[in-house]
Amino acid sequence: MQVAISKLHRESVPVGGLTAPSGAKPPDNGSADSRQPARPRLYFNLIHHTKSRIGLVICLLLLLKCGRVNAQSLDVQDIRVRLYSLQSVKTIALSPLENALWKPCAGCRPRPLPAPVILKASGNQLQFGNSQDASAKAGNSRSTSAFYLTGKCRVQVPTERPLENRYPMEITAKGGILTVVLSMPMEDYVAAVLAGESSNFQSDEALKAMAVAARTYAVRFRGRHKTEHFDFCDTTHCQDLRLSAVTDRQRAAVEATQGELLWFEGSPAATYYHQNCGGTTASAYETWPGTKADYLEVHADSYCLRSEHARWESRINKADLNSALLKAGVQVSPDWQSLQVDIRNRSGRVQLLDVIGKDGKLAMKLSASTLRFAVGRALGWNQIKSDLYDLKDNRDDLLFSGRGSGHGVGLCQEGADAMGQHGKNYREILAFYFPGTALGVSAQGLSWQRLRSEQLDLFTTNQNADAEILNIAERVLHKAQENSGLTLKLHPILKIYPTLAIYRDSTGEPGWVAASTRGNTIRLQPPQLLQQKGVLESTLRHEFLHLLVESNTHASLPLWFREGLVLYLADDSDRLAGAVTLAPDAMEAALQNPQNREQMQQVYASAKATVANLVTRLGKVEVVGWLSRGIAPGALPARSSGRSQTAQH
Ligand SMILES: [Zn+2]
Ligand SMILES: [Zn+2]
Repeated sequence: MQVAISKLHRESVPVGGLTAPSGAKPPDNGSADSRQPARPRLYFNLIHHTKSRIGLVICLLLLLKCGRVNAQSLDVQDIRVRLYSLQSVKTIALSPLENALWKPCAGCRPRPLPAPVILKASGNQLQFGNSQDASAKAGNSRSTSAFYLTGKCRVQVPTERPLENRYPMEITAKGGILTVVLSMPMEDYVAAVLAGESSNFQSDEALKAMAVAARTYAVRFRGRHKTEHFDFCDTTHCQDLRLSAVTDRQRAAVEATQGELLWFEGSPAATYYHQNCGGTTASAYETWPGTKADYLEVHADSYCLRSEHARWESRINKADLNSALLKAGVQVSPDWQSLQVDIRNRSGRVQLLDVIGKDGKLAMKLSASTLRFAVGRALGWNQIKSDLYDLKDNRDDLLFSGRGSGHGVGLCQEGADAMGQHGKNYREILAFYFPGTALGVSAQGLSWQRLRSEQLDLFTTNQNADAEILNIAERVLHKAQENSGLTLKLHPILKIYPTLAIYRDSTGEPGWVAASTRGNTIRLQPPQLLQQKGVLESTLRHEFLHLLVESNTHASLPLWFREGLVLYLADDSDRLAGAVTLAPDAMEAALQNPQNREQMQQVYASAKATVANLVTRLGKVEVVGWLSRGIAPGALPARSSGRSQTAQH
């Protein structure tokens, strides 16, 4: 929780600035910023600031009420990618270039890496020494179970081109093979995927579509190799990666779509892609039984048919095929005669084949994917490029006449590139290959229902569960008005997110911020979670008081007064607790430019105590009345003398 304020300000401000992309929008638009034309500039600033400040207030509130709450962080951590996944690397040479530091364990103190080192896997240990003597005098090397490296360095493994790396690197060994894992920022990872998967793209719009697909895939399937302690490998099993080959065009496509994901019903979509669908995409359900996604269905694609990969032919000798199957562990009778297509799926792809015996009768069934993998491993992956083929028996050979390359599910890369060259933009390309999804930085595609009460509207994706929350909110709002003597000048909208993950994705707030308010819209974590922690009503009360105070605020009122008043009104129990430790202008300066959590905690406590003192002296009606009239002249102590602050030290 130490990071609270810096994280909040670093993350919530930029994400908030991006939460209204031009894609389908959730219903929190048309908020107060467009309804308050009287003082647009001030109000706009206010909303902008209020958002982060409210987040902070709630954070403190939760801390006070229930200690550490849900420290689940935003998914902004770097992606952990294993390099050289297919190479079985046993040695690696590292040459420091700039600020290279290394350490033998995660918690160890980093030390400079002054000279090149060579690391060798030895069972589950690493042997390392400097590059000259490591090969000559083995006795000179040292042993460690891990090697952590930061800074810029040149990385060299046998048979690979050297790589100039600037990402934190972690090297371990298992069974004599090195595991090299980089921690990369998401956007850099996406650029490296474009270099690996889409290096031949002609169209910039298609590259942008691929950037969104690769990013969404990474968010959706992150942790695919969790048991091996990294997120993704660097092969087509996950996404192919070419770190040293990223071009300016690929980087521009990533930047142009920064943070944008493809969503379906509030979750990142499963954005599979392949090289060429051969004119018909495949259904995910039929390709990988158990995968259900309405947007991954069979549809025609005329765009990819002009590509050279659209059609292919392959002649495979029956004896070669026989040994390929045996190698793959498929027990076929040695005297089988022929192979025939038995069942095709709805996209025309072969699902099941009949192996015909010597007597002309069915000897066994063989799945198309088993056949393709057996042939791929033994005879090369370009023999049977897809399951979309016709099969002809030519005595000694089998002739495969096929279309497309790859599984055919989702985005067809060659079709996408052709679409881009025909003038389609990346949104149109994504909509064509993933119909029904929505593009955006925050969660899209939830089906919101509106519930109304006398004073507020509630948006929910789960009417049954949340109907009761409307009653609670109405009651809390009523009480907040009664307590403060203020009336609402706007119609609040309460938006309830169905899961914590969707709340975080949509608002950009970390899980420990219970709610965030923008304009007249309060965006709330699943209320059931807040109820469990006993903070639902206090959270609502706090947000409503902010709305009440902000909608009644005189243009000249300082921030500290508005914050202090909200805190004072929100707290029924110990209104007089806490001391005035800061003068008004010091509080104001701190709120305008927050530095850290401790400082903010002091500012809020001091603001609350200042308001409480004013109320004791002048009465609540008078002090609350300043919201519309401005602070009465002479009511505050003279400008900061510094005395009250020094008194604390
Ligand atoms: Zn993988
Ligand atoms: Zn296609």
